[in-house]
Amino acid sequence: MDLSWTEEEESFRADARAWLETNVPRDLGSGDTADGFSRHLEWERALFADRWAVVSWPEAYGGRDASIWEWLLFEEEYYRAGGPQRVTQNGVFLLAPTVFAFGNQDQQDHVLPRMAAAEDLWCQGWSEPNAGSDLASVRSKATRVDGGWILDGQKTWTTRGAFCTHLFGLFRTDPASERHRGLSYLMVPFDIEGVTVRGFGRLDGDEGFAEVFFDDAFLPDDCLPGGPVLGDVDNGWRVAMATTGSERGLTLRSPGRFRATAQRLVDLWSETPDERRGAVVRDRLVEAWMRAEAYDAFTLQTVTGLVEGDEMGAESSLNKIWWSELDVELHRVALDLLGAGAELDAGPEGAWSKGWQFALSGPIYAGTNEIQRNIAAERVLGLPRPK
Ligand SMILES: Cc1cc2nc3c(=O)[nH]c(=O)nc-3n(C[C@H](O)[C@H](O)[C@H](O)COP(=O)(O)OP(=O)(O)OC[C@H]3O[C@@H](n4cnc5c(N)ncnc54)[C@H](O)[C@@H]3O)c2cc1C
Repeated sequence: MDLSWTEEEESFRADARAWLETNVPRDLGSGDTADGFSRHLEWERALFADRWAVVSWPEAYGGRDASIWEWLLFEEEYYRAGGPQRVTQNGVFLLAPTVFAFGNQDQQDHVLPRMAAAEDLWCQGWSEPNAGSDLASVRSKATRVDGGWILDGQKTWTTRGAFCTHLFGLFRTDPASERHRGLSYLMVPFDIEGVTVRGFGRLDGDEGFAEVFFDDAFLPDDCLPGGPVLGDVDNGWRVAMATTGSERGLTLRSPGRFRATAQRLVDLWSETPDERRGAVVRDRLVEAWMRAEAYDAFTLQTVTGLVEGDEMGAESSLNKIWWSELDVELHRVALDLLGAGAELDAGPEGAWSKGWQFALSGPIYAGTNEIQRNIAAERVLGLPRPK
């Protein structure tokens, strides 16, 4: 493996760094509140205006045709510069790779540039009250009628759903089917009749979740150019697995994010008075920093494989376990360094206690870590399924 960057890549990095240093905003607040979300949208639109919102996409869709390596460099620079959370992430990092892989030309030409420009805002409609880890028990249904689909059912835990304009999700389209069969992957604009979006609060005080109810909602075939079904009707499970691969694998949580947190932790250590810097915390800090570096090295290995034509497959579960548990530990070490002061550190986005609260959800979202361990056991290690 060659770990050096080409001149072209270094020049791409320098351009990104210069732009981010001048433009990254401070104190946007949490993007999971109505006010914060609108400030974050301005930032998303500024990124798009200068073609930094989706660097690896084709120029025609607002990108720079950057390679996957350059995308990694951009991510590293983004977090190094203190760039805020990406409130468009569920569209840009989850739906978009799936639209590139399964969408028809009309869908790609319509959905992708509007998503990049933060004109259409996408949330993920997987979970239901009785379908979380067991996603195959999805009950929301779409019934075929003249000119479209009738949707009925309920989705829940849709991140930032209350602020979004569209939802992508799984619906049962074959009423006789069970489990993974007979599902379709639909893209649904919220402005059709019969959709109710009800935002609700989280334990950390933000209002970032929504429940979405579909009551005889008519989804016309022409609600989107190319139609609302992504991939084949009744074959949505396969399409959805591509999305979960992006969520657990490369795109949702790049190493730049954790390396930047690890560096902030080292800075925090330097500012911490001697009496709070015990040897145990120091060892944990070093270990957490090494784990962030290890994640970077693992990602370079993954990307090398992808560039050579490999597919990520079940290994994305290992990735997800690693980044989510690393994030919890980085924040725990910070709270131990802050001591009782951590309670007072509940300020703007980026504060350690707020970050810790969110880190705790990492082992739950994108599929819980218990489920990822089951997948790793069965599909990576080849162990038998429990009886
Ligand atoms: C911050 C956050 C954001 C989210 N955003 C979204 C979103 O945008 N869209 C969306 O659709 N969903 C979203 N979710 C929901 C998330 O996908 C689910 O919470 C997750 O899949 C778990 O499902 P559940 O909550 O129903 O828990 P359950 O499936 O009921 O699980 C409860 C517990 O049982 C364990 N368990 C269940 N089955 C097994 C098994 N077979 N083996 C071992 N242990 C098992 C689980 O690991 C967990 O600990 C989000 C969740 C969080 C926390």
